[in-house]
Amino acid sequence: MSYQAEYIWIDGTKPSPIMRNKTKILKDGQEPPIWGFDGSSTNQAPGNSSDCVLKPVFIAPDPLRKGNNVLVLCEVELTDFTPHPTNTRSACLETAERYKDHEPLFGIEQEYTLMQNGRPLGWPDNGFPAPQGPYYCGVGGEKMVGREIVEAHTQACLDAGIAIEGTNAEVMMGQWEFQIGVLPAPAIGDQIWLARWLLFRIAEDYGVSVSLDPKPVIGDWNGAGAHTNFSTKAMRESYDAIIEGCEALGKNADEHIANYGPGIESRLTGAHETARYDAFSYGVSDRGASVRIPWAVEKEKKGYLEDRRPNANVDPYVVSRLMIETICSYSPVKKS
Ligand code: ADP
Ligand code: MN
Ligand code: MN
Ligand code: MN
Repeated sequence: MSYQAEYIWIDGTKPSPIMRNKTKILKDGQEPPIWGFDGSSTNQAPGNSSDCVLKPVFIAPDPLRKGNNVLVLCEVELTDFTPHPTNTRSACLETAERYKDHEPLFGIEQEYTLMQNGRPLGWPDNGFPAPQGPYYCGVGGEKMVGREIVEAHTQACLDAGIAIEGTNAEVMMGQWEFQIGVLPAPAIGDQIWLARWLLFRIAEDYGVSVSLDPKPVIGDWNGAGAHTNFSTKAMRESYDAIIEGCEALGKNADEHIANYGPGIESRLTGAHETARYDAFSYGVSDRGASVRIPWAVEKEKKGYLEDRRPNANVDPYVVSRLMIETICSYSPVKKS
């Protein structure tokens, strides 16, 4: 007997990579091996030297084909088995190893917009739906479009063994969120990418596409983010460590903004529950701050912080690497 392994990888398209996949038939008992693809068709290689290598990094049961079939998330390597320039996982893994004594953990809230015919799903052919207000965590009637996709995606994540924590409808009609966590790096990146792939694939069956555009509709409509919640062992034990984490992020704000996803200026305007991209702030319960300390964390005097800046289209391997580097290498200015 044979089974199907769906190899999945992240390509080299700019400014935002897209996900690619192809199927390999394997004999029962055979582990998914290293494989390859034509990098000249994915913006990852020139035509005269087109081979790229797929190295499996995370294998999950396939919740769509079921049976013995599997999903095989891969990282891309050159033919000498060094990381391809588009491979952001390898640097993330290296950083996570370097700072593993800090025991960093992440939860990411992935927002996205369901799209059809070039508009958010359910939006009228001309003009706009009723203004924002009833959609966030809403229920009922024609306003909650795409719930069948959300339900199918959530169950698929559970069946694949992905650490999905919950879902909710977002502020803009057609926009939704799922959360993944609490996980170390690079597992947080593996699971966000695989959950994204499942969403893209399931939406296909409904004739719908998924946009991670940070600002899919200009005007008085919320953008889409990927709030990244972060803690170290010290932060899970002490409030001082959380404040130090916020201070550290403030010291390195420009590098983070530059790497938090294309189009971030269009989303971080200072309106729609965001802080401006060029101004750093942190605060308790403050959804208008760059970094929020949840009220329950302030009350307990320990826990985690929420970086609200990453776009929906952020690379989770990049945001997790940067947060570890910036926060775990920080030491407050010593008095001389
Ligand atoms: P909100 O929408 O109010 O910002 P969510 O419930 O959507 O909150 O998301 C909270 C996130 O916080 C989850 O992804 C969860 O994994 C994460 N989280 C909770 N505890 C920790 C922790 N100790 N370290 C890192 N992330 C955490
Ligand atoms: Mn949330
Ligand atoms: Mn949200
Ligand atoms: Mn949030």
